[in-house]
Amino acid sequence: MELKTEEKSTHHRVEMREQAPLVRARNFKEVPFGYTPDEAVEEASRCKTCKKGVCRTGCPVEVDIPGFIELIKERKFLDACYRVKEKNALPAVCGRVCPQERQCESRCLLGKTGKPVAIGNLERFVADYEAEKGNMRIPERPDPTGRKVAVIGSGPGGLTCAVDLAMAGHQVTLYEAFHEAGGVLVYGIPEFRLPKAIVKREVEYIKKLGIELKLNVVIGKLHTIDELLNGKGYDACFICTGAGLPMFLGIPGENLNGVCSANEYLTRANLMKAYLFPEYETPIKVGTKVAVLGGGNVAMDAARVALRLGAEKVYLIYRRSEDEMPARKAEVHHAREEGIELLLLTNPTRYIDDGNGNLCGLECISMNLGEPDESGRRRPVPIKGSEFQIPVDVAIPALGAKANPLLTRTMSDLTVNKGGYITAEDGTGMTSKKGVFAGGDIVTGAATVISAMGAGRRTANAINEYLKWNHWEFNA
Ligand code: FAD
Ligand code: SF4
Repeated sequence: MELKTEEKSTHHRVEMREQAPLVRARNFKEVPFGYTPDEAVEEASRCKTCKKGVCRTGCPVEVDIPGFIELIKERKFLDACYRVKEKNALPAVCGRVCPQERQCESRCLLGKTGKPVAIGNLERFVADYEAEKGNMRIPERPDPTGRKVAVIGSGPGGLTCAVDLAMAGHQVTLYEAFHEAGGVLVYGIPEFRLPKAIVKREVEYIKKLGIELKLNVVIGKLHTIDELLNGKGYDACFICTGAGLPMFLGIPGENLNGVCSANEYLTRANLMKAYLFPEYETPIKVGTKVAVLGGGNVAMDAARVALRLGAEKVYLIYRRSEDEMPARKAEVHHAREEGIELLLLTNPTRYIDDGNGNLCGLECISMNLGEPDESGRRRPVPIKGSEFQIPVDVAIPALGAKANPLLTRTMSDLTVNKGGYITAEDGTGMTSKKGVFAGGDIVTGAATVISAMGAGRRTANAINEYLKWNHWEFNA
């Protein structure tokens, strides 16, 4: 049946064009090309500008979604970008990596009968349009309050908090352990999903707001939090140091050459520029046959990076079935298209030594799914006698990450929980130590870019209140 024009525009979501799978599998360029202005207007025209704008309730930083989409319909692309930036300082990042299908887009009313408006794609479009036009608007800052705040960690949570505090007139210093700002956005998420130039652009914006960025400073080593508060005269500190300590399987052979955590592998590929080979000769073992262990987004990223670095064969080994995989469906789909082989219901039991301390294979066992466990997912159960081996020379465990204790163990008066995560009050980020706030992955455990940004925003509000009243009541 032929759809009427109006129906067509409501039901046909404009998808972004992207590189062909077998081409992109061998380069680090971004996978989708982004919308043209006409495509953006066509997609925006599907939006009903619903009075209640329920999509907005699905956005952790409360972007005025119907408002900015309306401006796109009117082809006021820069105004649309400024509207997004009223609430979100990192639109080009969020447009690319936020799981919109679980957030704003999951609430879009069009989703009840068809595909929701592509809110993320539109957000990306306006941010890129602004950058392309070179019209980055730097908002005017209020008069200085004379108060100083130190933000520890320049990931999305730290960046958001720093911006909000600077816009409240405080003097903000952002301390970062690495030589580049951006946290996971630069050291974890690969170039083909989030180009480094985009994060750099957002960091430049932040510097233009007067925020001082101190790179290569590990707080807990170079300065303690007490030194910042007492010696360096900061009135408050926000700890947003992420969850960057990798987890391992604890099976025999873990120390063999060729076994490398996803965290380290991705850091070498991203921050140490292996993705720019041969321009940079980064020490990283590329491997011919690579096994990535895990089923989350980090595993997908590591597998797709291994392929792009030149591995002939990449396996992704996951102990449950595809339905239980925590990775975004779109990422699994992309990985498959590019030729990555999923070995599902499979668990590694031993790394195999070639006799010289190098990895030459992986022993695995097949699994069945039993009753649901405490996570609600069906528990994988090994099938007796089903062991088998696959030849691999690189294995990358991507099993999640924990809190790094480097900073917290220098603070005896800071309450942390059993996992080493900082205990902080919901909504304010207050910790057990007066003047010290915390948020992002170091409080919640590994989560998302936008949830860290939401924490950064809420904590900036709480720090403002604290700096006004000097009142401290820790209720966590
Ligand atoms: P982080 O981004 O981890 O930043 C913390 C920063 O603190 C780092 O730069 C670190 O170097 C610095 N730091 C640590 N200790 C110190 C110290 N002692 N002194 C000074 N600085 C310190 N989320 C999504 O929403 N979408 C995705 O597509 C996505 N993909 C991901 C892919 C990978 C490979 C990984 C690892 C995570 C991904 N995530 C994704 C999760 C998301 O990136 C994180 O939840 C988010 O970055 C957490 O933000 P944060 O600000 O709390 O910390
Ligand atoms: Fe537009 Fe969907 Fe939001 Fe309604 S819910 S305003 S259709 S994006």
